[in-house]
Amino acid sequence: MTRRIAVFGATGSIGINTLDVIGQLGGSSAFEITALTGHANVEKLARQAIDHRAAMAVTADESRYGDLKDALAGTGITAAAGASGLDEAASMQNDIVMAAIVGTAGLAPTLKAAAAGADIALANKECLVSAGPLFMDAVQRGGGTLIPVDSEHSAIFQVFEEHQRRALDRVIITASGGPFRTKTLEEMRHVDAATARAHPNWSMGLKISIDSASMFNKALEMIEAQHLFRLTPDQVEVVVHPQSIIHSMVGYADGSILAQLGAPDMRTAIGYALAYPERRPLAVERLDFAKLARLDFEAPDETRFPALKLARRAMERGGLQGAVLNGAKEVALEAFIEGRCGFLEMADITEAVMDALDDLKTATSIDDIYAADGEARRRAAELVNA
Ligand code: NDP
Repeated sequence: MTRRIAVFGATGSIGINTLDVIGQLGGSSAFEITALTGHANVEKLARQAIDHRAAMAVTADESRYGDLKDALAGTGITAAAGASGLDEAASMQNDIVMAAIVGTAGLAPTLKAAAAGADIALANKECLVSAGPLFMDAVQRGGGTLIPVDSEHSAIFQVFEEHQRRALDRVIITASGGPFRTKTLEEMRHVDAATARAHPNWSMGLKISIDSASMFNKALEMIEAQHLFRLTPDQVEVVVHPQSIIHSMVGYADGSILAQLGAPDMRTAIGYALAYPERRPLAVERLDFAKLARLDFEAPDETRFPALKLARRAMERGGLQGAVLNGAKEVALEAFIEGRCGFLEMADITEAVMDALDDLKTATSIDDIYAADGEARRRAAELVNA
């Protein structure tokens, strides 16, 4: 039986890996691709749609609709654009949707697909960080299964025994520590974006690599885990594990820790999500324990990586603090990339905006999320420019 799948963010790193995995899992004999979506990279999107025989291709950028339509002329593939195009893709009776649009733009189509009852393979961070309760509610009402794609949450999902929830002690999210794991606070004050983007283990885009260096990526993952696995803030722990072989762990009340290990390759987590509840063969590197030699662990340093402290604060405060943290961080991150703010200032700015906006109520609609995100960005921009 083929499964109907839409890939949101097909032209990105996760999207490209997803199409690779779809090929490995049987291609068109296993999956019928209802829609592929992209944004700026229309040429690549059209090529992917043709190669993978998608029914529809959507560019989120309306101004590129003409280019997409031209590139698909004579192929029988429907071209669509903008929010209405994404909405259509989300409403196509998909069995599963890969949610890999980057940023807040991923929120509306993923919420829509969840409410429509599709299983969601979730890579996008904002759905949980900014809109956790709203998104979890949409998934529950839609009746689909939420399967995380981020390697840490995939690991937890794989070893989380829901029937043992009452014996759950904690989840332990592993962090590589990034390129600045051993740098002093003083050295970190002067690093630039080129140094910050050099991740030791994973090959990723610019922003997520810098978020890994500042550990803001780990901060977002803590908040995601809280919502995804219905945890209290004190059940979410982080440990630095430089080799990125253990992708995360779950600890139980009897002292047992269950862990998921693997080579650092996103295709394992993507393949797990697409084949769930089965496990299917994938051509990825196998761990060779004889060559691994050792696995190291360290406590995270919240003085050098204050993002972790901010995540805990956001989890404890609840409400719209996740959306505020993310919005403010995004502005600070862009400013850092453009050389308008220092590496450590990213956390200072985010903290100041979170404290200023800690009276924001709980979101009841996606508009509340956009409003909090917008206000956080406006305030962070003021601080950057001050
Ligand atoms: P990329 O930047 O590589 O790809 C992002 C995708 O989103 C592209 O298809 C892009 O289209 C599309 N896009 C960009 N802007 C918009 C917009 N305004 N509206 C609609 N679509 C848009 O990101 P990744 O694939 O690396 O990551 C995707 C998500 O998954 C992110 O939230 C990331 O944090 C998360 N993630 C990524 C991991 C990784 O290893 N890469 C690991 C875990 C989570 P185009 O390229 O055509 O402009």
